[in-house]
Amino acid sequence: MDFISRIMSRARAIAEPRRDLSDFEFVCQTCGETHTGLMDLGADGPDAYDSSSAEERETEFLKSDDLCIWNDEHFFVRCVLPIPVRGLDDFFGFGAWSTLSKDNFALYRAHWEHPASDGLGPWFGWLSNGLKPYPDALNLPCRVHPQDHGQRPFLELDDRDHPLSRDQREGITVERLMEIYAANGHGP
Ligand SMILES: [Zn+2]
Repeated sequence: MDFISRIMSRARAIAEPRRDLSDFEFVCQTCGETHTGLMDLGADGPDAYDSSSAEERETEFLKSDDLCIWNDEHFFVRCVLPIPVRGLDDFFGFGAWSTLSKDNFALYRAHWEHPASDGLGPWFGWLSNGLKPYPDALNLPCRVHPQDHGQRPFLELDDRDHPLSRDQREGITVERLMEIYAANGHGP
């Protein structure tokens, strides 16, 4: 069973009333948009990039939408960290970055358009973004699962005890999801 099927079936096994987000919507106090249904969040770059000055970005980083190299020494890929939402049979996706070793980063680039059935990964990485309101999620160990044909890899957290790791294993409630949205600036 692949990693997504595994976490989805585990979350389904935890009793929670069926929920329907299709008519769920609110006007966001921060961005002013009307948010409907399940919405993903994403980080533009690794936290190391996002917290850098314009000059540092210019001189120290090479970055595209999906790849980032810092000082020829740290290699990052953009991934999706899925967290199942109980009662929805769907997951919330956090667009987060992970490190890869130099060799795996090169493999990833070379196989970008290839199917994952080429037998690539999973690879070791460090989560390169924090996610509010979770404490200290930056640099959690994870497994990077490459996907088919240029889709972003899935991140599986590899820490037994961290609350974000536990929520990925067991799923979260819709109420918890709303707390995550609000902590990231998207609240009613
Ligand atoms: Zn918003």
